[in-house]
Amino acid sequence: MRFVFILCSLVVLWQPAFAAVDIALKGKDPVRLEDVYQQQGTPYVAVEDVLHVVGLKGHWDSIRHTFRIKTKSSWAEISPGSDYLKIGDEYYPLKDRPRFIDGRLRVTDSFILNQLSQLAGRSIYFRNLDPITDTAPSESTNVLEKLFAFLLNKKSNANGPLIHAVAIDPGHGGLDTGVIAPSGYKEKQLNLAIAEKLAKQLKMKLGIPIYLSRDGDYELTMEQRLEPATREDVDLWLLLHAQSSFSPELHGVSLFVRPEEVVQEPAGTEEVEIVESDSLLLAKQLAIALRDSDIEVRGIYPSARLSLGRGNLPTVQIELGFLSNPSELEQLQSSEYQQQIVQALYAGIRQYAKQSKENTDGTN
Ligand SMILES: [Zn+2]
Repeated sequence: MRFVFILCSLVVLWQPAFAAVDIALKGKDPVRLEDVYQQQGTPYVAVEDVLHVVGLKGHWDSIRHTFRIKTKSSWAEISPGSDYLKIGDEYYPLKDRPRFIDGRLRVTDSFILNQLSQLAGRSIYFRNLDPITDTAPSESTNVLEKLFAFLLNKKSNANGPLIHAVAIDPGHGGLDTGVIAPSGYKEKQLNLAIAEKLAKQLKMKLGIPIYLSRDGDYELTMEQRLEPATREDVDLWLLLHAQSSFSPELHGVSLFVRPEEVVQEPAGTEEVEIVESDSLLLAKQLAIALRDSDIEVRGIYPSARLSLGRGNLPTVQIELGFLSNPSELEQLQSSEYQQQIVQALYAGIRQYAKQSKENTDGTN
């Protein structure tokens, strides 16, 4: 909701110069569109209006934050502020970025004449009836674009977001129940409940794709379990599990990273610069965020199980708590506590993204 609010308030700041354009598929009668915004001499036309004229279909995907255009064989996608048209797995550079202006995603004449005529399979006639340079305050544009730059799936841009997509593995499933509480509550249920809530939170707040290894109660092959983490746009991988112990007192969240990623402080060598892995940085931010939410964190440990998957992909296995501890079990089953964990994990991921962006920017 906050996102919508920011958009609305920025729209109020926008002082548009209105214009009109004529568009047609070559050989047909031009259609006049008047919902056009001029920005420094470039007309921005609502993509839906243009598609209608050239006989293509498309829709705004509010989860992915992209506009999807139906092509003969697949989908083409554009995003506000992004420099690319994506078709399948291919990215095609755009001269002008699409922009969200006055509640509609808009494209320029360059997109219409080049990419869109390709998609339509025919040349498009375009005429700007009012080619004037406007005086719209560019500052509000920048704010809008900064806002979207964070949400966008922008691959080849160093200034883009650090997280393009997240893979989540809700551990176990099907006959593989994971650990079982004395009450019968199963680890696989908890893992999935947290995974689904976290996926929703990340999609809503960051507008990026989230890939779950499973979305129901079924068993996975090792290949299926790893598949989300191998996708090209995935920038971090979270594995969700829970623990059990003979000692009913044990409780709290434990975080695991690959064995080689746990930094061993070298004794007596102050000169050595320790470079922490992204997995460790992520685990540390998750730990901070969980503790800030009054959730106990036992520590960050090495796990040999994490040697699988893409080697340098920031990866953290999260043991959500002990099903063998009666009071923690009760908490873990309550949707309030689940939400509390999810909020904390989200905050940790967000902080990690911010931190690694600062690190990256610092090296440019
Ligand atoms: Zn497990």
